[in-house]
Amino acid sequence: MTDRYASFVRSGAGRTLVKRLGLPDPPRLRRHTPGDPLAPGPVLLGAATGGRLAEPVGRFLAAAGVELRDPGAADPATDGQRYAALVFDATGITDSTDLRQLYDFFHPHARSVLPSGRVVVLGTPPTECGSPREATAQRALEGLTRSIGKEFGRGVTAQLVYVTKAPDAGSWTSLEATLRFLLSGRSAYVSGQVVRVGAGTAEPPADWDRPLDGQVVLVTGAARGIGAALARVLARDGARVVALDVPAAGDELATVANEIGGTAVQLDLTATDAPARLAEHLAGRHGRVDVVVHNAGITRDKTLGRMDADRWDSVVDVNLSSQERINDVLLERELIPAGGRIVSVSSIAGIAGNRGQTNYATSKAGVVGLVESLAPALRERQISVNAVAPGFIETRLTARIPLVLREAGRRMNSMSQGGLPVDVAETIGWLAWPASGAVSGNVVRVCGQSLLGA
Ligand code: NAD
Repeated sequence: MTDRYASFVRSGAGRTLVKRLGLPDPPRLRRHTPGDPLAPGPVLLGAATGGRLAEPVGRFLAAAGVELRDPGAADPATDGQRYAALVFDATGITDSTDLRQLYDFFHPHARSVLPSGRVVVLGTPPTECGSPREATAQRALEGLTRSIGKEFGRGVTAQLVYVTKAPDAGSWTSLEATLRFLLSGRSAYVSGQVVRVGAGTAEPPADWDRPLDGQVVLVTGAARGIGAALARVLARDGARVVALDVPAAGDELATVANEIGGTAVQLDLTATDAPARLAEHLAGRHGRVDVVVHNAGITRDKTLGRMDADRWDSVVDVNLSSQERINDVLLERELIPAGGRIVSVSSIAGIAGNRGQTNYATSKAGVVGLVESLAPALRERQISVNAVAPGFIETRLTARIPLVLREAGRRMNSMSQGGLPVDVAETIGWLAWPASGAVSGNVVRVCGQSLLGA
């Protein structure tokens, strides 16, 4: 689906009109292509006094070929330097009076971030802080990052990454993976998010350009939209993809599977025997499934008073109950090995609620519940469980929304545009990497920092 307004404002006449009338000005977002440098310019790395992360983060970034700059040596008044990213280690902030160090770091450089640049603040999870004062100050970091996401514009994203106070080897690998995702064009449409890196088992890849090398990945709903983009992105990153969709979408599914050298499974997830048939297929073909991506979903919108029971049942069954049934069977038969990943697709409707979508929002909020309850339960088995919650993504599903609502959905976010299926796919890809094992129990929105449910 094309965003005609965005194309128009990028034209000569459009630019003039946008400036004169103060209309939304959707920037062209930097998206990932293999071989891209991690950051297309220098990165300014600063730290609050006593920060514990700047040193290891500086090492990862330097090893990844990033040109690092030190705020002590940078003088924005005279050097005119522009940065691909500002990264600040705020873990040394233990009291609200220390928050001034955020201002001191960001204020002089606020106007020197390149278009589609990145802001990343590193903190300590408030629940792990040693005192109420420290927890208070660390919680305050959310307000700063979310505001920067709204303020800097031009496709700049801002995130907060809370890193456990008791990191193990897996934490460091997953922190590196998280920074590689957040600094790159893979996270083009992710902003205003809080990511938690805990402890866990995580394996760095031999090649960060193929972070899923050799992984067997199941993608449900892979015939089109987000699922088809997912199959392509995961295959590009080295995965062997098992693409699943309903028999009625068999032709489209075969096209996707053939294009990426994956296999196609025609199966209705709501069929009684679907979990067992899927388990048999995975066991027979691959002996395991390293990553399960629950992407298949449907909408059957109506206000609650006008909704028939079929609409309620089918949406909850496809979007939520089928995920539970499949997880149960795959876990029971131990087909998801240690180091496995489960990634579910929720929605901002599950966070904010939506008129006419009580069934859908119930199912998608249930997906958040599934992640929150399953992640701790599967920690022992070294299986991570996360969700992504897309906002307005340009697919057939959103093409059906009436024009005025569709335009509102597209513009009411910090990027003034809808996301693309590839943006959701890249985010799921990062959560699926063997290197991301210490990121579990997270719900990451891919919504361009939508105002809904913010
Ligand atoms: P889509 O309708 O284009 O694709 C969904 C796919 O799921 C289809 O190929 C469909 O055949 C498949 N599917 C549906 N029921 C199935 C079943 N019983 N068994 C097997 N496959 C089944 O939708 P999309 O926009 O690509 O959405 C993908 C996911 O993202 C969904 O879970 C959706 O709720 C979620 N999402 C999308 C948006 C958006 O803006 N497009 C926003 C938030 C969340």
